[in-house]
Amino acid sequence: MNRERSRDLYDRALSVLAGGVNSSVRATQPYPAFAERGDGAHLIDADGNRYIDYVMGYGPLLLGHDLPESVRAAVQSHMSAGPMYGAPTEVEVELAEFVARHVPSVEMLRFVNSGTEATVSAVRLARGYTGRDKVVVMQGGYHGAQESTLVEGSPDAPRPSSPGIPQSFAAETIPVPFNDTETLESVFEAHEGEIAAVLTEPLLGNTASVLPVEGYHERLRELCDDHGALLVFDEVMTGFRVGGLQCAQGKFDVEPDLTTFAKIIGGGLPAGAVGGPAEIVESFTPAGDVFQSGTFSGHPMAMAAGLETLRYAAENDVYDHVNRLGEKLRSGITDIVDERAPGYTVLGTESMFKLVFTRGGSEGVGDSCRAGCRQEPDCARFERCPKTGADVANAETERWDRLFRPAMRDRGVLLTANQMESQFVSDAHTEEDVEETLEAYKAYFE
Ligand code: PMP
Repeated sequence: MNRERSRDLYDRALSVLAGGVNSSVRATQPYPAFAERGDGAHLIDADGNRYIDYVMGYGPLLLGHDLPESVRAAVQSHMSAGPMYGAPTEVEVELAEFVARHVPSVEMLRFVNSGTEATVSAVRLARGYTGRDKVVVMQGGYHGAQESTLVEGSPDAPRPSSPGIPQSFAAETIPVPFNDTETLESVFEAHEGEIAAVLTEPLLGNTASVLPVEGYHERLRELCDDHGALLVFDEVMTGFRVGGLQCAQGKFDVEPDLTTFAKIIGGGLPAGAVGGPAEIVESFTPAGDVFQSGTFSGHPMAMAAGLETLRYAAENDVYDHVNRLGEKLRSGITDIVDERAPGYTVLGTESMFKLVFTRGGSEGVGDSCRAGCRQEPDCARFERCPKTGADVANAETERWDRLFRPAMRDRGVLLTANQMESQFVSDAHTEEDVEETLEAYKAYFE
């Protein structure tokens, strides 16, 4: 594949953009494929190469690259009317009503512009509402580029995961392993009355889609109730994807106190939100006293894109389609690795999937999972299925980055940048796309 123009663009970018990109994960080596345009489920790069795209903007593009006419018309009409005002508009009320109607725990929202902004605001809201400072996060979880959650280490020794974050900030955050309620119980006991919130993705979407074991969310809910902490579901990635319009909280049948959204809620334009019961969300200014604000928040074009995207999903068989193709990919890849490379693991659910290079990994990891496993204890491979961020971090991440992803790209399949990021099926993917993708996996393992 000729990628000269991408290489030249990357050279230019390296002179004027830090690391050549505006989001770290895009800097795939030796140089990224610069996007020229989308076409359904395909991305065409700056050299005219065509790829079956499973990055899908890292999640927002539920409907693929070609937005339905209703979405385009709504965005264009808001652009023509004047892109934004600094005054409220009807479309933000309509999107809030739509979300509140469908997501079980949400009565009221505050819109922002990204997932990061949503989690920053949710953490401030939880602290302001409870009058407590500490937040619990999951090791291997991701809640955006923000001070309170870029924290790693153990419950007793949290440390910033990036320079620029003071240790004193990290000291207010307690990282615990996902799927481990015993550690969480002991953390609540050690910090009685200090914990404002437990933040978790409903499944670890930023660690290859590690699923919750049965009963995990229910126990999280109980522990938060017992200790007066808020349960915050970060549904930035899973929202309006896993569990359809009810989101992952509907699928797993657990009601968090607060939910953060972004990605699909903006229909491909920048938007995010914090939602929950009025009793909590009305703590935000100007209804309450927890400060929150944003020049671009509730941007009419983004609200319109989100609203029309969700309406389209409600009126068409989008979720059946993406979930069926997701299952076909997971079971197809499982069959391929079972036969050719036993020891690798296929993770994910519904329209999310990821192959994990677990061979040679840590104890407890190492056998392929049956596709679509829900971490059910009667699964023969239950014991070996990754359950924590560490289980995935111990996989052959190097192999993914250096060999697997570039080899798949050369076969015309665009996967996410590294072992940790999930991949997404869109409404635009077809059976043929999936079959071609499975052929590429097969060819790689041969
Ligand atoms: N939370 C989760 C669960 C995410 O997956 C992401 C982004 N991948 C974020 C927060 C941050 O969102 P954004 O990149 O829009 O700031």
